[in-house]
Amino acid sequence: MTKSSLETQFKQLSETTGALQTGHFQLASGLHSSRFFRCVKLFQSPLESQFLFDALASRFSADIDYVLGANEAGSILTFEVAKRLKAKVAIARQIDHHYQLIDGFSFPPQARVLIVDDVTTTGGTAKQLIQIVRQAQAEPVGVGLIATKGLFEVDLACPVEVLITLEGMDAISPADCPQCQKGIPLTD
Ligand SMILES: [Zn+2]
Repeated sequence: MTKSSLETQFKQLSETTGALQTGHFQLASGLHSSRFFRCVKLFQSPLESQFLFDALASRFSADIDYVLGANEAGSILTFEVAKRLKAKVAIARQIDHHYQLIDGFSFPPQARVLIVDDVTTTGGTAKQLIQIVRQAQAEPVGVGLIATKGLFEVDLACPVEVLITLEGMDAISPADCPQCQKGIPLTD
């Protein structure tokens, strides 16, 4: 799939599923934003969203033993990408602000692990997932992201593939947030 047809298809799916929302949001990074991309809305339609899983998996042809992701949308993404790469799955979730593997998931030392995440602002989740891989003495071989907000300038020390750069997304500290200053409550 070419880059422009991927972007067109992504834009159409985002519109029909209502994945791109407007309001007053607190992001996982703690920053505030007036626009929020809810990837899980895309994944509610497995057939319509499979071009994304195909595209992300195709960026990583090397032999991968495990795919690691986090949280609800991340679990769907991880499962679908792992299936395409004929790899196993590992899922983490956040406990007390730190990601940990969910009980029952593990990978052996030296395993080649691909990290996936849906949308990132600062790369914080991917960074923590890389740490989990390193702590297990396994090897992080890459990071695959569905989308970034164009603010992603973090060196993750392994190859990063991004499918889509979302335009017009803001992310500001709560202290500088115009909506906070107007007393507008956070959107659920
Ligand atoms: Zn705010």
